[in-house]
Amino acid sequence: MTHQLSLALPPELALNETAFREQVLTQLGLPNTEDIVVRKRRQSIDARNRQVRVQVEADVFAGETPPQLIRYRKPEINVSNAPQALIVGAGPAGLFAALRLIELGIKPIVLERGSDVRTRRRDLAAINKDHIVNPESNYCFGEGGAGTYSDGKLYTRSTKRGDVRRILEIFVAHGATEQILVDAHPHIGTNKLPNVVTDLRESILKAGGEVRFDTKVVDLLQTRNELNGVVLANGETLTGIGVILATGHSARDIFHLLHDRNIRIEAKPFAMGVRIEHQQSLIDQFQYHRPDRGDYLPAASYSLVTQSRFKG
Ligand SMILES: Cc1cc2nc3c(=O)[nH]c(=O)nc-3n(C[C@H](O)[C@H](O)[C@H](O)COP(=O)(O)OP(=O)(O)OC[C@H]3O[C@@H](n4cnc5c(N)ncnc54)[C@H](O)[C@@H]3O)c2cc1C
Repeated sequence: MTHQLSLALPPELALNETAFREQVLTQLGLPNTEDIVVRKRRQSIDARNRQVRVQVEADVFAGETPPQLIRYRKPEINVSNAPQALIVGAGPAGLFAALRLIELGIKPIVLERGSDVRTRRRDLAAINKDHIVNPESNYCFGEGGAGTYSDGKLYTRSTKRGDVRRILEIFVAHGATEQILVDAHPHIGTNKLPNVVTDLRESILKAGGEVRFDTKVVDLLQTRNELNGVVLANGETLTGIGVILATGHSARDIFHLLHDRNIRIEAKPFAMGVRIEHQQSLIDQFQYHRPDRGDYLPAASYSLVTQSRFKG
């Protein structure tokens, strides 16, 4: 039998798995036996009042096998001999496009101007320690894309939301914690993201796709109205049944190239993020209304968003 519950609990009951299980079973009048599975579906922290509460929705499976936590399966087909498409950029858009092409039976060739996610660390160290910027491999460019070495937040304020659960499941299948399926503000963590990115690449390679680093696209090949190839910085040309440009916000050269080639591009509003550094304990005090966050609450966060009107 499946029971569904919605609870508002103090952190020490909601965020300690043993205490949470006991709490749920007591509420339902069920024994604490092995054949009962308690699974959280959603969890969010409500710190609006002095007493912080954690809202939890949970499913309890008593005497029955719970459904699999994730439906997503890593690709099992091999596309090495299938028609190929070119993807420019190995940021999130490029990596997820590659996985989707594999599902559709197309071989992805991912071309990335920067280095792989581990080598990129050295390029970041050179920026931080020696103030030397590698123009092709830095905080914005390289496997994993912009933001890989910044935070790893997974929630979005965008209203154009697709199947977010599916994306989270793909991350979990590639090594992210299952907790991201439950948290209202999921977070992979910068320390874990490089491993997840590496595993995403492994899935692409295992399925017969290709990922080429230090491979900058400098021109596009067009037949009539279709993009079907690219020119690399070393002069090599590659062709495919299509080209997916997943070059992100920072590749100005690509915007110039599209403009020069009379390919229609559209300006987006300019968004700028600002890094403000505080003591974590200060934010915890403000958000949780207590001297420290204690043993169970996660590091508190806040965001400050403002829309400014540019008069030029
Ligand atoms: C500092 C910072 C922190 C962020 N933190 C978060 C966060 O915590 N959570 C979150 O969800 N989002 C975060 N973001 C936003 C997030 O990084 C972007 O939304 C996301 O990276 C966009 O993905 P993308 O694949 O479209 O582009 P990008 O990530 O920009 O990837 C584009 C890729 O294309 C490659 N490329 C560009 N030009 C060429 C070329 N000519 N040839 C070959 N390769 C090329 C680049 O090297 C890059 O790897 C952050 C962004 C920044 C800058």
